[in-house]
Amino acid sequence: MATVEAASRAEVTFPPARLFIGGEWVEPEAGRTLAVENPATEEILCEVAAAGEADVDRAVAAARAALAGDWGWKTPARERGTLLWRIADALEARIDEFAHLETLDNGKPIFESRYVDVPAGIEALRYFAGWADKITGETLPVSGPIELAYTLREPVGVVAAITPWNFPLIQALWKIAPALACGNTVVHKPASYTPLSALKFAELAAECGLPPGVLNVVTGSGAEVGNALVAHPGVAKVSFTGSTEVGRDIMRGAAETVKRVTLELGGKSPNIVFADADLDAAAKGAYTGIFYGKGEVCAAGSRLFVEETVHGELLERLVARTKRLTPGDPLDPRTRLGALVSRKQRDTVLGYIEEGRSEGARVVHGGEPVSIGGKGWFMEPTILDGVSNDMKVAREEIFGPVLAVIPFREVEEAVELANASIYGLAAGVWTRDVGKAHQVARRIQAGTVWINQYNWYDSAAPFGGYKQSGFGRELGKQAIEGYTEVKTVYVGR
Ligand code: NAP
Repeated sequence: MATVEAASRAEVTFPPARLFIGGEWVEPEAGRTLAVENPATEEILCEVAAAGEADVDRAVAAARAALAGDWGWKTPARERGTLLWRIADALEARIDEFAHLETLDNGKPIFESRYVDVPAGIEALRYFAGWADKITGETLPVSGPIELAYTLREPVGVVAAITPWNFPLIQALWKIAPALACGNTVVHKPASYTPLSALKFAELAAECGLPPGVLNVVTGSGAEVGNALVAHPGVAKVSFTGSTEVGRDIMRGAAETVKRVTLELGGKSPNIVFADADLDAAAKGAYTGIFYGKGEVCAAGSRLFVEETVHGELLERLVARTKRLTPGDPLDPRTRLGALVSRKQRDTVLGYIEEGRSEGARVVHGGEPVSIGGKGWFMEPTILDGVSNDMKVAREEIFGPVLAVIPFREVEEAVELANASIYGLAAGVWTRDVGKAHQVARRIQAGTVWINQYNWYDSAAPFGGYKQSGFGRELGKQAIEGYTEVKTVYVGR
């Protein structure tokens, strides 16, 4: 049996409606809960706890106690690495179950959860497990009455990890794995739409021997739990992935206690196709760039810039491919387009399409909501042609399967249009001209540029934004820098 089929049939259990604090399930003080919906069926899957300020206090206290106790710099680095590796193995052993849970919670195709989301989480755990005993300082060539000077890299302290709903497990592990490898402790607040894999992961990590308090999960609203974490004096760093709007609030909130902050925010990424590109590959790249993950992808190639001379030809190939993409039951292994995460999100996306129409864009494919068996927040993959870069659909992040196609005449214009955005998360460049590819890659203001490729990630490669797409980097050795403080030690003669 192919593994994706096993995942589609895997048995899942839901976490209890409690918080995971200090290594155990605890009742939220106010006894409140939140319902978690399956966006493909509109059924309520389960209830999770809705934490309040007192619960955040408890979680931060547990994380601080773990830091001051046997974790932090007292646990040998190699032991932290071994533990992360053990957790990765345990997650791999339950990959089908976690993939199924992620699909139920988010509406994404089981194909994606099974082959991308959970494996990417496992890869991040293993990558950072490898780093744990390789985090070193330096000796320094200082002058004066000094025998020796060196630096230490130490954990930052308690990290508040606040994550969005589009890639729940990946976003969580891109933060938790490096934070723990560096010896920090974590309080994780997952998105309210998709809290399930985070809760189950914390339980799994504890079963693998992660000491109590090292990883705590507090579910509940961003306004309440998220704000309380950002304001909490016991939290040393906020690692946030989410919208630019909330990112701004987090920066303001963190300023009060001068917390370290990493922000992975929104995007409106340009995907540029030059006339000399392999047009079949570019059409496929444009399609994957926007429709993978239902377009609920921060780095989605949502602005497709096409050199005027091949505009018609590329669009034809793209539309032909897109016609074969129909929304389906996310648990069906053949499905490649699932349900949007919520009714609210779908309404927002459909609203953008209307605004695009009213500004003069032409819907050349899709544009309509879909239901399956009368249920679910599905919609057609949508291509808007005749878009100009100053229309709302080209300026704002739609966060759904909607592509804006914009023609250009020459390299200069492509670069100028691509960079005319408040965002700078990612970009794609399609050309057979090697010199042009590298030149454009250098001139694009974005944290990641793919050449003749789109949407590939590797734990060894840093990911993050320029401009209002945020700052700091996830993955790669840059993530290690973000979860450590540098201390200089002088030794006198
Ligand atoms: P969001 O509304 O900004 O929420 C993200 C997280 O922040 C959620 O856990 C949310 O809690 C919490 N939150 C909301 N208000 C808060 C506040 N005032 N203080 C502290 N926390 C607060 O984003 P989203 O709608 O979940 O996710 C979509 C966005 O994430 C898009 O803009 C996308 O581009 C971005 N994203 C960026 C990356 C990247 O790597 N750059 C990756 C993925 C997604 P609730 O769920 O309870 O509201």
